[in-house]
Amino acid sequence: MSHLDYLPVTDDSFATTAASTFTAKVVSAGTTELTGPCPRCGTVIRIPVVTGIYKSFRLLRRRHAPPAPDARLEPVICTCDDDHPGRPEGDVGCGAFWIFQLEPAAQ
Ligand SMILES: [Zn+2]
Ligand SMILES: [Zn+2]
Repeated sequence: MSHLDYLPVTDDSFATTAASTFTAKVVSAGTTELTGPCPRCGTVIRIPVVTGIYKSFRLLRRRHAPPAPDARLEPVICTCDDDHPGRPEGDVGCGAFWIFQLEPAAQ
């Protein structure tokens, strides 16, 4: 699906869909990478999220703890390099953005 027009847009369903299709993986100390298909254009994108040394240190202690209520809300925008007509020069993505809830274990 690469023929969608570029459109800065969000929708509750984006967050709902991404919550079930995206995976969060700690790639290095203080950096988590979100990977999954954009809920609008369907292209798999990778979003690096800097979570900070303090939080990654906390992760080590809490790896086996149940989800805590301090989940972090991370704004995510589509960063695909598909051809979406109408996209401003130099920009990436289809324009979709949403909020991804990082579970404490992924921070
Ligand atoms: Zn796209
Ligand atoms: Zn997209």
